[in-house]
Amino acid sequence: MDPIQTLLSNGTGRTLLKRVGVAPPPTLRRHEPGAPLLVGPAVAAAAGAGALLKPAVAALEAAGARVLAGTDESAERLGLILFDAGDISDPAGLVSLHEFFPALLRRLAPSGRVVVLSRPHESAGDAAAVAAQRAVPGFVRALAKELRGGATANLVVVGAGAEEHLASTVCFFASARSAFVDGQVVRLGAPTVPGSAAEPAADAPLAGRVVAVTGASRGIGAAMVRAFARDGAHVVGIDVAAGASPLAELMADVGGTHVVADVTAPDAGARIAAASRAAFGRLDGIVHNAGITRDKKLVNMSKAAWDAVIAVNLEAPRRITLDLLEEGALTAGGRVVLVSSIAGIAGNLGQTNYAASKAGVIGLVEAFSAALEPQGITVNAVAPGFIETAMTKAVPFGIREAGRRLSSLRQGGLPVDVAETVGWMLDARSDAVTGNVVRVCGQGLIGA
Ligand code: NAP
Repeated sequence: MDPIQTLLSNGTGRTLLKRVGVAPPPTLRRHEPGAPLLVGPAVAAAAGAGALLKPAVAALEAAGARVLAGTDESAERLGLILFDAGDISDPAGLVSLHEFFPALLRRLAPSGRVVVLSRPHESAGDAAAVAAQRAVPGFVRALAKELRGGATANLVVVGAGAEEHLASTVCFFASARSAFVDGQVVRLGAPTVPGSAAEPAADAPLAGRVVAVTGASRGIGAAMVRAFARDGAHVVGIDVAAGASPLAELMADVGGTHVVADVTAPDAGARIAAASRAAFGRLDGIVHNAGITRDKKLVNMSKAAWDAVIAVNLEAPRRITLDLLEEGALTAGGRVVLVSSIAGIAGNLGQTNYAASKAGVIGLVEAFSAALEPQGITVNAVAPGFIETAMTKAVPFGIREAGRRLSSLRQGGLPVDVAETVGWMLDARSDAVTGNVVRVCGQGLIGA
């Protein structure tokens, strides 16, 4: 428990902190196997014909949600407010956002969700339509900052041909799996190689998928191993010799397999491919999670610190991805997930090496997603904000508390929050999700 949470756990501490303007952070609802998708019914409506609304509602209903019409005027607390803004074709039409949301927002339950659907603005048509669709992300990001009680708002921009491929994405943002993802904009495009359209077995969206995770022995990597195995995946965990014993224990516990390897070793990709084939016959996805920091202001930074961070965080994911492709280990329908950081978006004092490496990772997403699209291999990244791990425990107190509190959700995230987001990217149904960098940061102010 952090010092402020400790104070908040007793009456006197709470009163004291309230006096200085520190309110207790909301408790976030997180995914529990067997729990319903939503905390209450959804209300769904569209600004026009609603070409996106129909498949989105179908996906929610298939996942067990009860969906009410936009005209619903009951007092029932809502788990989700879904709005298709894709038909708004001029600035005047944006008023439908103002007309639709306010009354419903008062009914949104704690940890409720707002999901807005829109069209890519750049291909929306004339200047009025481009402006109207370009306005929607601004609206959603601002609305996310107004929500309370652990509720979130996110936007899904659906390109032509992706309408029938939005199920996993809408369900992810509607669900408790996206607990720490707030104010984000995700773009879906028509997949060149369609993935599975089949509804996954309840609570097993990754059933049968073979997924490798680097840096798997602890922190976010270990949370990924557990979450993916819980969701039905076969997991291959990779970590350095120092983490060999916890890695072996964890992988045995989840029925996976492991490779003790340094990701910077020239044969790391070949060894990951071989271990996946030997244990499970193939590899469907790789998550480049291993990462290090060697913080110092640039004037004091050694070349060794610079080189180590670039080698582990940026060069290893690039080379291992290329090696897996060359080996034929990643094929059509494959998934590559990189782990960036908000430091790679906003920069961070004392982290020129780390920020450069994590911004470079975004470059890898751009280059690989374009190059691998014809093969139906998706490439995305998560950019975690403040996540409670050994890495952030080492951050000085003041910076740590700022990182925790200065976000719309007013707390740090948990490793499982990053894991759930990566799990959605790995899902066979997420075939339209490529080239995205999704912040898992509770809409942190840093880099927003
Ligand atoms: P962590 O607790 O330090 O775990 C990272 C794991 O990667 C460790 O087990 C580490 O092994 C391993 N690793 C390091 N170098 C490796 C190498 N050369 N080959 C194979 N494995 C290696 O870190 P974390 O907080 O879980 O972070 C995971 C990822 O999220 C990193 O990429 C990090 O940059 C990113 N991230 C984290 C946060 C956060 O708030 N925690 C925020 C933004 C981004 P050792 O035991 O030897 O170190």
